Amino acid sequence: MATTHSELYDAIVIGAGIEGCFTSYHFAKNKRKVLLLEQFFLPHSRGSSHGQTRIIRRAYPEEFYTKMMEECYQIWAQLENESGTKLYRQAGFLVLGKKEEAEFRALWANLSKQGVEYKYLDSEELKRRFPNIRLPPEQVGILESSGGVLYANKALKVLQDLIRQLGGVIHDGEKVAEIKPGFPVTVTTTTRSYQAKSLVITAGPWTNQLLLPLGIQLPLQTLRINVCYWREKDPGSYGENFPCFFGLFPDLGLHHIYGLPATEYPGMMKIAYHHGNKADPDERDCPSASPDVADVQIVSSFVRDYFPGLQPQPAIMESCMYTNSPDANFILDRHPKHANIIIGAGFSGHGFKLAPVVGKVLYELGTKSTLSYDLTPFQIRRFYHLNKASL
Ligand SMILES: Cc1cc2nc3c(=O)[nH]c(=O)nc-3n(C[C@H](O)[C@H](O)[C@H](O)COP(=O)(O)OP(=O)(O)OC[C@H]3O[C@@H](n4cnc5c(N)ncnc54)[C@H](O)[C@@H]3O)c2cc1C
Repeated sequence: MATTHSELYDAIVIGAGIEGCFTSYHFAKNKRKVLLLEQFFLPHSRGSSHGQTRIIRRAYPEEFYTKMMEECYQIWAQLENESGTKLYRQAGFLVLGKKEEAEFRALWANLSKQGVEYKYLDSEELKRRFPNIRLPPEQVGILESSGGVLYANKALKVLQDLIRQLGGVIHDGEKVAEIKPGFPVTVTTTTRSYQAKSLVITAGPWTNQLLLPLGIQLPLQTLRINVCYWREKDPGSYGENFPCFFGLFPDLGLHHIYGLPATEYPGMMKIAYHHGNKADPDERDCPSASPDVADVQIVSSFVRDYFPGLQPQPAIMESCMYTNSPDANFILDRHPKHANIIIGAGFSGHGFKLAPVVGKVLYELGTKSTLSYDLTPFQIRRFYHLNKASL
């Protein structure tokens, strides 16, 4: 039987992935009493936020993400200063694709409009700058200089340390089993019950499990992603001086392949497919789960054809989860019936870099503060016409 903890928190945050950690950080930084609950002992590798690296970039087709990234870069730098830990390496970010391709054009136009520093590389220049990428002749590139690598695991650790230093409380190894809406909201874990003025749910691929008893299911797909590392034939050829990249190759039958330079594991470049296969987060690593060989084969053919300096068989394979919304945009909103329950979900495989601002707006929703951003693109109501959000 769970015992009740008498303190009234300003907020309880469920889930210590990057979104929940940044949310808790903003609560603690603003001198609010915050409790962050995590089902697994920290650190863990069962959700979406673990691993050594993530890509950071301003290059997006959507204006609202590029705008949010401005402040994200500032908060990432602030975090580096507060912790004395390097979390970002400016490696550059290279978008590869065809000039005529719609997504490529939208991204290019957006960067120009918002004054982001970038260089357009025609196919000749692309070949000259990156002789170890061998693309068909009509492919071009956009090189965004401020793009680069975020050190993901270090960021999680730094945030969790700062939350505690700022007076926040983190309980790991405590799975939330029940949420009783109301004011205050009551949250019961495997060991105790807690009360708070507001609740923020940032539970990644487990979000719908927590929302089901609260009468809502969001149109989220949980996908298992195979993260593959490819060994360099000539060590160092895709190392520190190589940028992160994102490829838009619909005409090659390849949508959204991305890669990071070989720094995480010595001599191995990370290249992965930005798509996965449906999977229950609790069964992600079951021995019976199929290894989704088709995805690995797609990346393997890509590496063989276009990255001739890499061995075309993965040297290491790891797993991670995406939680995709139908339009790949985030969900940052209140529960439609319980205004003090806030939901941050559907990060669709691109939520790490944006977590500083995600955490800030979830804090603002949780404290009824003035919102720093227009959250229209992130509202639950956008799914009503799909009839997929059951309310
Ligand atoms: C392979 C891969 C590559 C990626 N690359 C990039 C990139 O380059 N750039 C980028 O910006 N983004 C990238 N992303 C996306 C980014 O990592 C995710 O969007 C982000 O990590 C989502 O974080 P989250 O906090 O929502 O989820 P999670 O990290 O999954 O955190 C949710 C947490 O909630 C906890 N939880 C769930 N239910 C309960 C419960 N009942 N009680 C207590 N705790 C609970 C879970 O245990 C978990 O720790 C990538 C993702 C993957 C998988």
